[in-house]
Amino acid sequence: MSSHTFDLVVLGAGSGGYSAALRASQLGMSVALIEKSKVGGTCLHVGCIPTKALLHAAEVADAARDAARFGVKATLEGIDVPAVIQYREGIVSSKYKGLQGLIKARGITLIEGEGRLTSPTTVQVGDTTVTGTNIVLATGSYSRTLPGLEIGGRVITSEQALQLDYVPKKVAVLGGGVIGVEFSSVWRSWGSEVHIIEGLPRLVPAEEESVSKQFERAFRKRGIEFTTGVRFQSVTQNDQGVVVTLENGATIEAELLLVAVGRGPATANLGFEEVGVAMDRGFVLTDERLRTNIPGVWAVGDIVPGLQLAHRGYQHGIFVAEEIAGLNPVVISDTNIPKVTYSEPEVASVGLGEAKAKEQYGDAAIATYEYNLAGNGKSHILETSGSIKIIRVIDGPVVGVHMIGARVGELIGEAQLAVNWDAHPEDVAPLIHAHPTQNEALGEAFLALAGKPLHG
Ligand code: FAD
Repeated sequence: MSSHTFDLVVLGAGSGGYSAALRASQLGMSVALIEKSKVGGTCLHVGCIPTKALLHAAEVADAARDAARFGVKATLEGIDVPAVIQYREGIVSSKYKGLQGLIKARGITLIEGEGRLTSPTTVQVGDTTVTGTNIVLATGSYSRTLPGLEIGGRVITSEQALQLDYVPKKVAVLGGGVIGVEFSSVWRSWGSEVHIIEGLPRLVPAEEESVSKQFERAFRKRGIEFTTGVRFQSVTQNDQGVVVTLENGATIEAELLLVAVGRGPATANLGFEEVGVAMDRGFVLTDERLRTNIPGVWAVGDIVPGLQLAHRGYQHGIFVAEEIAGLNPVVISDTNIPKVTYSEPEVASVGLGEAKAKEQYGDAAIATYEYNLAGNGKSHILETSGSIKIIRVIDGPVVGVHMIGARVGELIGEAQLAVNWDAHPEDVAPLIHAHPTQNEALGEAFLALAGKPLHG
């Protein structure tokens, strides 16, 4: 038995946990970071980074397939998935090494093993009792499934999808949200047939309806099939593949079924309830300053109800470290966090949707403008279609920006500044955008909403 005492103990070293540890050490605290697997968590090892590497390999495949249209002589002979995995893992392992080095250099004590909260100030890791004046819970999330739908064999989650060393001929994808469409996009670019099943009436249902419509059109054009508004009923599997049955009796045959129905909080059997931490359906409840009901115990990242995104986790971690240090950081609002759906095309948004804005400010107080990317030179060059929709309060600030098109995730930063800083379109319209960029489309939309449409 051994025991160690720190200013801060962080349970879980994913985006939320490691950022809390890094910032706290920077602020002079002694920090223990407890991790049962690998520092970096879901995002680095089985989430954001590896999937984006696959998407890049998908984009390269599309470019090779379409090369002749641009006058380039190239042919797509096929996808060498083990080589793609090598490229992907090269990126992951270099980022992993970098993070390990940073944690060491900052003097953070990394404790490897599974931790359990045993009191408001202690975490037990094997024989070691780790005591902290403050404790941050950051244990992350896991791939959910539906009741009665067992993962195994040909029914897989995103983790197993990342392990596949071949391109499946046909995949059924359960869930038309961010993770489902991301894998669908990759597989389609690599030549798979894909059929997405979404119980809600539209793909990317968390986004604006007009964006979903354009997204569905783009996916249909790419040959990606989908069924929306019908719920999954059951699946059977054998050596050859799976047969998925929907509630309306329709069946879909495929080689694999990817289950992408969301992520649940990884909080079971970690002692949280026993110590008295207030929870709701597995999520840890906090106030807006990320304090749980127990003084000195905080929660960050995917276990806190709301958006499950790496950059939210990072910001949570930084916030808690600064709050503990008495720096009084600005409260984080989920509404002002940018969201990106990574696929071909991409979807990016920040702030309120039109319906929510009207609910909040009243129908008559809201104005919107949707700029069609067809009018943007760079989008023409990239051969992408899509739009940028801006929602403003009349005589007031920009409250929401919603985009769809190739690489629009790279444009969300400027929109985020406008929304977070309560800028009026008249404030941002005079900003000069480099030509030719897709950013100009955002500038044109701001100009139009400021009453000065240039090309519109
Ligand atoms: P996690 O990253 O899950 O980290 C939790 C850590 O805690 C893990 O390392 C785990 O091993 C450890 N842990 C758990 N229990 C214990 C214990 N008892 N003792 C010790 N250690 C423990 N987000 C984006 O913003 N952009 C994207 O592009 C994106 N793509 C994604 C793609 C996929 C396929 C998936 C699955 C997720 C993606 N996400 C993306 C979501 C993102 O990965 C998560 O929001 C983020 O990782 C959450 O961070 P976290 O710190 O809360 O949890």
